[in-house]
Amino acid sequence: MRFIDNSMLKIESLKEMTGWSNSVHCDRQKIGFVPTMGALHQGHLSLIAAAKKKCDLVVVSIFVNPLQFNEETDFVNYPVDLAGDFKQLEELGVDVCFLPTKESMYQRLPLLNLEMPELIDCLCGKDRPGYLEGVMLIVAKLFNVVKPDEVFFGQKDYQQCLVVKRLIEDLNYDLKFNICPTVRDESGLALSSRNRRLSPEGLQLAASFVQILCSLRRRLQAFLSSYPQDKLLEKSGGSVINLVKFKSDGEEILKTVKGVKLEYLEICCADDLGEVVENRKVLVAVAFWVEGVRLIDNLLV
Ligand code: AMP
Repeated sequence: MRFIDNSMLKIESLKEMTGWSNSVHCDRQKIGFVPTMGALHQGHLSLIAAAKKKCDLVVVSIFVNPLQFNEETDFVNYPVDLAGDFKQLEELGVDVCFLPTKESMYQRLPLLNLEMPELIDCLCGKDRPGYLEGVMLIVAKLFNVVKPDEVFFGQKDYQQCLVVKRLIEDLNYDLKFNICPTVRDESGLALSSRNRRLSPEGLQLAASFVQILCSLRRRLQAFLSSYPQDKLLEKSGGSVINLVKFKSDGEEILKTVKGVKLEYLEICCADDLGEVVENRKVLVAVAFWVEGVRLIDNLLV
């Protein structure tokens, strides 16, 4: 199936993709899979590098999934740069770039509706109805076609990671889930395909917002370690920590960045997005708008 010069295969057909994977598995080779929506940047490339390290062969999909956009304009304006993407993937030595068409992935509008209320009725799932349901469906479809041994997702989309991890468990997919750290530019701003839609001023505003978020995390760290020890000792093993005031103060501070609109600040348990509980990792997550572009970020404490 591979070209003699070892160049990257570009596969559009679902049947051909599955055929390639089956032949690879016959040779007992491990497939690492990185699903993306294209307009690739160093964040995507870090997932590919992780996949290359752990697996024999790497498949990267590029598919802008219409079902996970709750706003038509966001879908229409989503950046596309296939030529640039192919160049980067070839340079990295990716084995297959899988480019399914919309018609092949969705022959008809699906009747199946996957739900996971405990994990999706909060954070981005609350503000973008249909987004995580759309993610679950496309990820399940891609896993069925690509048949990977390991998959690689970015911490930047933290809620998506939890949902996909649980989907793998609930549907008994025989594959290993890997979460990779968020890649940032030198200002601290998380890389995102949507950053391409920002002007230099917009990028600066987003960066200053994220810098405030980092200072909030430092304050939260200090707050949690100074949380009255007697309270923690009293109810060892799972007492809920009250962060209402901390959160509302944080919201006020983040709202002071002119030109940036805060959509949400959430501070929750990193395991299940529920209430913050002692001895468990805490997630600080934000969604915000700059120049009409919605960005997200998160930090773990
Ligand atoms: P997307 O193309 O935005 O759907 O993202 C594809 C994958 O890349 C997802 O698993 C994202 O979480 C991941 N990703 C996006 N941005 C970053 C980043 N800055 N650092 C690490 N991973 C990222």
